[in-house]
Amino acid sequence: MSWQFFLLDLTIIFRRETFQMNKDSVIYVAGHRGLVGGAIYRHLQKTGFTNLVTRTHSELDLTNQAAVYSFFSQIKPEYVFLAAAKVGGIHANDTCSGQFIRDNLLIQTNIIDAAYRSAAKKLLFLGSSCIYPKLSPQPIKEEYLLTGILEPTNEAYAIAKIAGIKMLESYRKQYGFNGISLMPTNLYGPGDNFDLQTSHVLPALIRKFHEAKLAGRPEVVVWGSGKPRREFLFSDDLADAAVFLMCNYAESGIINVGVGIDLSIAELAEIVGNVVGYQGKIIYDSTKPDGTPRKLLDISRLESLGWRARTSLPEGIARAYHWYLENKN
Ligand code: GDP
Repeated sequence: MSWQFFLLDLTIIFRRETFQMNKDSVIYVAGHRGLVGGAIYRHLQKTGFTNLVTRTHSELDLTNQAAVYSFFSQIKPEYVFLAAAKVGGIHANDTCSGQFIRDNLLIQTNIIDAAYRSAAKKLLFLGSSCIYPKLSPQPIKEEYLLTGILEPTNEAYAIAKIAGIKMLESYRKQYGFNGISLMPTNLYGPGDNFDLQTSHVLPALIRKFHEAKLAGRPEVVVWGSGKPRREFLFSDDLADAAVFLMCNYAESGIINVGVGIDLSIAELAEIVGNVVGYQGKIIYDSTKPDGTPRKLLDISRLESLGWRARTSLPEGIARAYHWYLENKN
């Protein structure tokens, strides 16, 4: 082995050591009651991490800077999963853009700065595939960020998330703070929001088909033209990727997390209808917006690190439907 390779090996070992979470590290999961934070919390618990810290919204208002600073100075988390955010589907994003930009800017700014000031070892920030230009070439590579105009229905949310990405890049550059930014594709799974006005498409369709089946309705209304294409990642797979990247990724650049396959909303509706066992017709409401025509992430950066999603779409939908049946009341 040449001495250069020996040094490279040593560097990798040293970096792994530096970033490896110990089973008793103090880990704060912000947003542990949400779809993503809940999945990350369960994953950490299942894999033996014993020192997990959480706070409910009523215990800690993350938009309150003084409260967040006080919490961090007391707890001093070593690792932070920043999964707390105000999120919603196309209708909620479009109609409540003021709340989306305010809450997200406050939550992420408070947590990132408090983590840096209390000397956290590492922070993982969750963005979204909607940060990319509306008409981005497909599949979307990380470097397409800020190369075009955003989709108007989620511009406010996307700008808040881009601010979080740039804040972490700047904190790494100026202060050497170890923050990483993951860009997940559209997510779904247990603990999702099934409210028809504010949810994303997949939980909305599970609920619509289920209720139509029970009521014996002849048709289900799907918003838009059915033509937009989306990619869906099961929340437990995202949690697995998040813990993997917390341990194995420490770059300034953002990293996409997806499955590498997309489908049209019409195709998705067919699959959800089959899983739920709905026999009626699907009709399309063209008065509702389509949003971005296509959102498929290029996941080669993630794959080159050795990670792949495990859950197929029908399997994930069946698990999300099962959770809905158990928890809808
Ligand atoms: P987006 O990926 O940010 O556009 O978020 P959504 O998951 O809310 O919507 C994805 C696509 O599904 C859009 O083209 C919506 O118009 C379409 N869609 C079809 N039916 C529904 C529905 O019942 N709820 C939602 N949220 N979207 C729907």
